[in-house]
Amino acid sequence: MADQLSGAGLAAASDIPSLDRLLNADALQPALATHGRTQVVAALRRDLDALRKRALDGGVPRHELDAAAVAARTSAALDEAARPRLRAVYNLTGTVLHTNLGRALLPDEAVASVLRALTTPANLEFDLDTGGRGDRDDLIDDLLCELTGAEAATVVNNNAAAVLLMLNALADRREVVVSRGELVEIGGAFRIPDIMKRAGARLVEVGTTNRTHAADYENAIGLRTAMLMKVHCSNYAVTGFTKSVSVAEVAALAHARGLPATVDLGSGTLVDLTQFGLPKEDTVRETIAAGADLVTFSGDKLLGGPQAGLLVGRADLIRKIKKNPLKRALRVSKLTLAALEPVLQLYRAPEFLAQRLTTLRLLTRPLRDIQPQAERLRGVLAHAAGPGYAVEAVPMFSQIGSGALPIDQLPSYGLAVRHAGTGRPGRHLDRLETLLRKLPVPVIGRIADDALWLDLRCLEDRDEAAFAAQLAEPLA
Ligand SMILES: *Cc1c(COP(=O)(O)O)cnc(C)c1O
Repeated sequence: MADQLSGAGLAAASDIPSLDRLLNADALQPALATHGRTQVVAALRRDLDALRKRALDGGVPRHELDAAAVAARTSAALDEAARPRLRAVYNLTGTVLHTNLGRALLPDEAVASVLRALTTPANLEFDLDTGGRGDRDDLIDDLLCELTGAEAATVVNNNAAAVLLMLNALADRREVVVSRGELVEIGGAFRIPDIMKRAGARLVEVGTTNRTHAADYENAIGLRTAMLMKVHCSNYAVTGFTKSVSVAEVAALAHARGLPATVDLGSGTLVDLTQFGLPKEDTVRETIAAGADLVTFSGDKLLGGPQAGLLVGRADLIRKIKKNPLKRALRVSKLTLAALEPVLQLYRAPEFLAQRLTTLRLLTRPLRDIQPQAERLRGVLAHAAGPGYAVEAVPMFSQIGSGALPIDQLPSYGLAVRHAGTGRPGRHLDRLETLLRKLPVPVIGRIADDALWLDLRCLEDRDEAAFAAQLAEPLA
């Protein structure tokens, strides 16, 4: 080492090229064309400062001062800084609607519509019939009414916002009766008691964690009661000795006292999922038909659309909600509406839904497609992982995710990777998990029971070749 760097090999601080000379050097022109002068000058200054410091500390190999070498470092640093932060990944976690990975994937119609809305003016709040001012909700409220049987509808930024708005508009400084068994916390700090407080409503808890009776609701109704509310137990199930009161019963109790009954359905589906072989989940239409006066649900869970919070129900209540100033603060952008409308349109043709709605296509992807794919990719991953790992194609269970049907699991197929040698498997699995996560398109699986599990449900056939190409060479 010392020999290599001795004599003519080492440069002094005075040998470092000037900023101006480098900016005029041919080698720097591509970086200037891509990143612009401002960024290149800043990156060059950082590089030259580092070189100067090292030169004063003992010397820098002379070849590192070549314009080509400086250009290569500068471009690499600027390319890295310009790399998108929001990146595509392969979701092989087995959770189809994965909140941390962006939930629902949108169908092509929605993508085209968003692109159009982004690049052309549109009648967002402009009535094309009268030439007067319009309401952005008009773009989707009749579709929502048609698909749910509700009288009226509106939309806000997400379902948490829908619940907040509903409570503030209808129960400010009054009481809301909720069963103790339904005081849900959704991941990411959405808790019914907290949202209630922020909305200005007072929570009246009734029943116990496992059992709530009609009389519990009835006894809690007083002069300050604004509504009876039910909340979907999205991410847990109370089993064993349990009793809850149905939407129909709660609605009847509320109506007998002249109060509205509201339901936070959480995921909320617009179609009967059992027709697709999926577990039963109450639809929004069924909830309205059972007597709910107002129902809130998410746009990007089972619905398969963009992030949004949908409110449907009685026209007088929706009117009141739309007049609340929070509605303006929580309103959706044109991008959301552009994406939502074509997704809702797809529901008008339920016979095509399992093919056209991406979320449903993934949820219903048959084992006869997933299993052969696992067998095709087993060897690919085994080669990429190297001799330290054993890769098997095995059956596994996917989850719907995002709080939909928390205990039901979908039979799936995928790859299970185990450490082949001796020693603690955890460290080796962590290493492989990291290598997969560092790929250009990161592969996200999950580690459990001394194995790394890659569920292939969400790797559609059209993406398989690109997925395999990333694994063509042994990892690191
Ligand atoms: C998911 C969920 C929410 C929050 O919905 P976001 O669209 O994520 O804001 C609220 N309530 C229930 C019951 C949920 O399942």
